[in-house]
Amino acid sequence: MKRRWENILISEIRKVVGGAKLRRGRGRIWIENEISPECEERLRWIFGIQSYSKCDHCKLQELEDRVLSFWNERVRDRSGFSFAVKVKRSGKHDFTSQEMAARIGGLILDHHPDLWVDLENPDYRIYIEIRDNDCYIFDEVIECAGGLPPGVEGEVVALFSGGVDSAVATWLMMHRGCKIIPVHFDLGAFSAHDGRMRAEKVTSFLKRYQRDLELLVISHGDFLSDIRRILSDAKIENHTCLLCKRRMYRVIEEIAVREGAKGIVTGESLGQVASQTLDNLFILDHAVKIPVFRPLIGLDKNRIEAMARAIGVYDVCTSMKDECLATPDKPTTKGNLQKILEVESNKDI
Ligand code: ATP
Ligand code: MG
Repeated sequence: MKRRWENILISEIRKVVGGAKLRRGRGRIWIENEISPECEERLRWIFGIQSYSKCDHCKLQELEDRVLSFWNERVRDRSGFSFAVKVKRSGKHDFTSQEMAARIGGLILDHHPDLWVDLENPDYRIYIEIRDNDCYIFDEVIECAGGLPPGVEGEVVALFSGGVDSAVATWLMMHRGCKIIPVHFDLGAFSAHDGRMRAEKVTSFLKRYQRDLELLVISHGDFLSDIRRILSDAKIENHTCLLCKRRMYRVIEEIAVREGAKGIVTGESLGQVASQTLDNLFILDHAVKIPVFRPLIGLDKNRIEAMARAIGVYDVCTSMKDECLATPDKPTTKGNLQKILEVESNKDI
């Protein structure tokens, strides 16, 4: 792990565990004190941590005794089940991992002859990690958010409606080490429900991954009124969504440049709605020079929803509705860039 990444990770862990003693070494970070269940829960939200385990520590010469006492504490008087011993070893040793696993397995069987070993599909697994003369014994691997430590890749600006798509797209970029500036366009009178409140609620949820996440809100209602009038005069109301999105793109490009962000993120997925056809995405990209990242481009809606459920954001996104009242009856799936540029050259918008 790169040193800089590890430093960031340690400072994130420090924010969660307060004064607990931390130690690092070869791809591992140890928290040497007991921490509360709330802190454990929060560790799961730190990007860059793949998993954590609560372990017993001992020296190599104490390993056999400690495994037996660990076993007695955890397994107690349960009987008649299969188990496996998994050993991982680093440093110089005169035994292989398999030899040590067999030795420890034999020791457990000597003390519990009613049990049996099943390496493929055991009822209980015990893990032993040997690092030089230090041993760590555990029986649970708690999966965490994974990905890259917060912010290691720099900043991106997210087009953040608060719907399932933009929430998952934002999460995916965070997951790969981006710090996010979420921007919501408030549709004003064109929001059928409370889109802005939904965006704020989803932002609050995602703060568990990025504490300083702060939603920027841009008012978009007046623009929509103007553009609807102009497009109606030009008889191309079916281009409303494209002009709407192109304005969003232009505004967040400005924010990105001002903040030194390296790109913009959207929740678009190919062909999901009229404004997301390949032809129309080309027209949207044409509005800006900055890279546009669309982490959901190849995913079907059911996959995106499954990801939202796994992240835990699905209910937050769907607990409030939003609908744009400016959407025309039949939005075009193949916009005309020339006409769009003509309309956009109008000084009033
Ligand atoms: P979502 O589930 O994210 O709302 P969607 O399926 O409803 O997306 P669209 O409404 O076409 O699809 O929006 C596509 C993308 O455009 C969104 O994922 C988001 O990135 C951006 N977007 C849409 N509306 C807004 C808004 N009001 N403010 C900011 N970004 C928006
Ligand atoms: Mg939406």
